[in-house]
Amino acid sequence: MNLTSLLKNAVCKGWTRFTRRWFLACLVLANAAIGVPAIGMECNGKSDALGVGRVIAVDPIEHSRVGTMQYPETLPLADHEIVITFDDGPSPRYTGRILVILAAECVKATFFMVGEMAKTFPAEARRVKAEGHTVGTHSFQHPFTFGRMSELQAGAEIDRGIDAVAAALGSPDEVAPFFRVPGFLTSNATEAALASRKLMTWSADFPADDWKGISSAEIVKRAISRIEAKGRGILVLHDIHEQTVEALPNILSELKQRGYKIVQVVPASATVAKTQTTPEEWRLPHQHAQEAEQDSGQKALVPSAAQIDQSKVPASKASESQATVKKMAAPSLSGIGAGKLALGKGSGGRPRRFVSNRFGRRRHRQHGCLICARCRTAICSDRPNHQGRNP
Ligand SMILES: [Zn+2]
Repeated sequence: MNLTSLLKNAVCKGWTRFTRRWFLACLVLANAAIGVPAIGMECNGKSDALGVGRVIAVDPIEHSRVGTMQYPETLPLADHEIVITFDDGPSPRYTGRILVILAAECVKATFFMVGEMAKTFPAEARRVKAEGHTVGTHSFQHPFTFGRMSELQAGAEIDRGIDAVAAALGSPDEVAPFFRVPGFLTSNATEAALASRKLMTWSADFPADDWKGISSAEIVKRAISRIEAKGRGILVLHDIHEQTVEALPNILSELKQRGYKIVQVVPASATVAKTQTTPEEWRLPHQHAQEAEQDSGQKALVPSAAQIDQSKVPASKASESQATVKKMAAPSLSGIGAGKLALGKGSGGRPRRFVSNRFGRRRHRQHGCLICARCRTAICSDRPNHQGRNP
């Protein structure tokens, strides 16, 4: 057992009979006291498990949008620190198997659950939480139309998803105020709805394209190569695909071999103090250099969370906006019983193209975002580091 494990045990011993929130507070305090991540971890008798290097507590109001695929900021991670996330479950066919794989390495992740899935499969939702993972939400029906919803409509879909996941888990306290927009297809109205609810919107730093029907080997290859390119950040996976289940052990193994550490993220609260960070830690290192070179005429396309409440889409542009975004609409959640979602694919499993690839991206002025021509992702930053993929 290494120093981190010993300290965690010492600090936490006797506390686990209290609520899970206290337990998380305990973990955060233990990590803060140590100040350095673990190197290898004892896990179920295995001395070199990947484990959780550290737990960080974040304040969703201070940093309301993370993930450099869309936003300027990401989570305050050190080099070679990774946060693993799973979207679209819980699924009776895949989520349990993913939990077993994570447990074998004592890794904790964040699950962005779809409300309708949690309502249909509450036992799977409760198991995710019971095994110590963080649970955020991903709307109720997983519509791909957040980009053209009014703030009221977006808010209703967000609330319904949170309520369904909270009901499945037994309490709203079990649900982190973390939200991921389906397909990353956000808009100012959706961002306003999220901000008014004090939710932290999670984009990602690298996808693994596991929703595209590619092989598990290709998922591993894409995940690792993109992680290596950025060195830290949020990985987005989906607990509704066979290939993801097959890829996960190799992704964890590769991360371990390459010296990466897993970070679990929990919300700061009255009982969990936020992890102290500097503003620079919320940006990828190369972003600092980019921003220094940034043209003074360029500004972020999406206002800050504090500004969003005042932003209005001109009525004259609304219809044009809707006509554009109509092309982005994809089937909503279906086939739940099969534990599989149709995630915005065109025929043959290929992502739909809806604008000319001539310029790669189309400026989507009404929503203050860029829409990627290849994957339809709304990129809400002038420094998106976008890789042209849409989960
Ligand atoms: Zn999704």
